Amino acid sequence: MHMTTKYNPITPRIVDELIAILGPTGVLVDPEAMEPYSRDEEMKNEHGHMPEVVVKPANARETAEVVKLANRELIPITPRGAGSGLCGGAVPIFGGIVISLEKMNAIIEIDAANLTFTAGAGIVTNEINHAVRDLGLFYAGYPMSVESCYLGGNIATDAGGGKAVKYGVTRRYVLGLELVTPLGEIVQLGGKLAKDVAGYDLKQLIIGAEGTLGIITQATVRLVPLPKARSAILALFPTPQAAIDMVPRIMTSGNIPASLEYIDRRSFDEGSRFVGDNLSCGEAEAVLLIEFDGATQEGVDAQAEAVGDLCMGSGAIEVYVADNFTTLDRVWNIRRNVADAFLANYAVNCLEDIVVPVSMIPLTIPMIEQAAGSRNLESTLVGHAGDGNMHAILLKKNEMSLEEWNRVLPQALEEIYRKTTELGGKITGEHGIGFKRKEALVKVTQPVEMELMRSIKRAWDPNHIMNPGKVLDV
Ligand SMILES: Cc1cc2nc3c(=O)[nH]c(=O)nc-3n(C[C@H](O)[C@H](O)[C@H](O)COP(=O)(O)OP(=O)(O)OC[C@H]3O[C@@H](n4cnc5c(N)ncnc54)[C@H](O)[C@@H]3O)c2cc1C
Repeated sequence: MHMTTKYNPITPRIVDELIAILGPTGVLVDPEAMEPYSRDEEMKNEHGHMPEVVVKPANARETAEVVKLANRELIPITPRGAGSGLCGGAVPIFGGIVISLEKMNAIIEIDAANLTFTAGAGIVTNEINHAVRDLGLFYAGYPMSVESCYLGGNIATDAGGGKAVKYGVTRRYVLGLELVTPLGEIVQLGGKLAKDVAGYDLKQLIIGAEGTLGIITQATVRLVPLPKARSAILALFPTPQAAIDMVPRIMTSGNIPASLEYIDRRSFDEGSRFVGDNLSCGEAEAVLLIEFDGATQEGVDAQAEAVGDLCMGSGAIEVYVADNFTTLDRVWNIRRNVADAFLANYAVNCLEDIVVPVSMIPLTIPMIEQAAGSRNLESTLVGHAGDGNMHAILLKKNEMSLEEWNRVLPQALEEIYRKTTELGGKITGEHGIGFKRKEALVKVTQPVEMELMRSIKRAWDPNHIMNPGKVLDV
């Protein structure tokens, strides 16, 4: 990928200045060492773009010095977490400097009295729950990529996940941020407060801004009590439509699940094979994984039973109770790995992330099948259906040429995005706009809203050096 640029190149003098700030181990210029920083899970290989230099600051002060240098020299900066993103957000499309947060991975404080956890932005998200489990606490904002992604990346994308139905997305859990602004100033936003209405909520503006308004170097997140009991069912349905039709009915049944995941047969089988399991969904064409958590086993079992009965009374082939944590963890392991399975096994793919009001979710399957099928594309679906978020995985048939795929895919996406918007939905529920959906965002967003976003970007980042080319163009 080649982009024309108004930015200045990295010169040996600038590399020397970076080494003076970060030391020799904090600066990479060797192409082989920099190659992993040229891509994310969406934009890989020929679709990625090489950085000119990768830096690994150890703290906010070093980060701020790099950002000041970038402003002075007019060099683009791309903040980077683990690179697990699915929209090209961490890909340095104009080259310049990639700032990797990987060295800032320390746990700074576990404050059990305030139910907060503070760490560097480079901590792997899963480590939060490992660190607080023995205290009977739990960080609920994690996404499916929990084993690889970083907390800073989750905050920058406002990640959601398997438990968002009950617990909400990352935004609900972020109490405080340390931020390096696009001009290289260090600012503390929020803190440990449950309530805070002192002025504009800049912290919430940063959450989900995809690294376009600054670099998160540290975060304080809210913890909740670790649920003492879990109960889950796997409901098998004869058709995808029968399964998805159940979702609004479950959500309005008076039993709010912690998770309500839709997995079609192909996704289940791919995920199962990918993790080396032999679980299958038998004759079913789609399954719902429905989990409850709470204070007592009797309470969550009763909810699972009620929803299981509802499914059986509405055409489910079978409802299995995951009667121990091992079975449940196996099913979750399959679900967590569906995206990775398709990304690994299908070289030509497109992973979408639409979200609609929950009452509209039954309409998403025919809508996607029509948009894909009418263009001879394969589609398979998996999603956090309980919060209206559906992942459509579009695949190229073997007999289709790459040229044809490149011609019809944008048409299919345009139709999916337009119809999603007509349903009152948005083109992405958790993966973000990044580079991939930047042009689509303009098409489905009110002009006034776009202009307000642009004016914020201009005010925060006057030299337009902070993750340029992502989310919106100024
Ligand atoms: C198998 C798989 C499953 C996934 N499941 C989910 C899911 O359930 N829910 C979900 O929401 N997403 C999911 N994702 C997408 C991805 O994991 C999330 O978007 C995640 O939050 C990205 O974190 P990261 O550390 O990898 O960030 P990166 O990919 O490195 O970066 C993502 C964006 O955040 C910016 N950024 C990163 N760190 C910072 C920082 N410290 N300061 C400022 N900006 C920063 C980058 O510039 C970029 O724009 C999945 C991805 C995969 C591959």
